[in-house]
Amino acid sequence: MNLHWFKHHTCPEDEEEATLLVDIETETVPETDEYGNLLYYCIKGQHIFSVDEDGRTSQGEHKKKHQTAFRTF
Ligand SMILES: [Zn+2]
Repeated sequence: MNLHWFKHHTCPEDEEEATLLVDIETETVPETDEYGNLLYYCIKGQHIFSVDEDGRTSQGEHKKKHQTAFRTF
């Protein structure tokens, strides 16, 4: 697990601030997609995107299970 994760990231779509999604149980373990990329929630745009360890962003978490409860920093 990559420990060099950050709480905030700039949304690639609208350049608004996004916050790191964390596991709702622990609130310290970051949520990741099936590739282990960190997931961020764009507050303004209200959508989720992922960031890989090279800092590259990608959309694609739109209609997945993450519609359920989660918490951000
Ligand atoms: Zn956005």
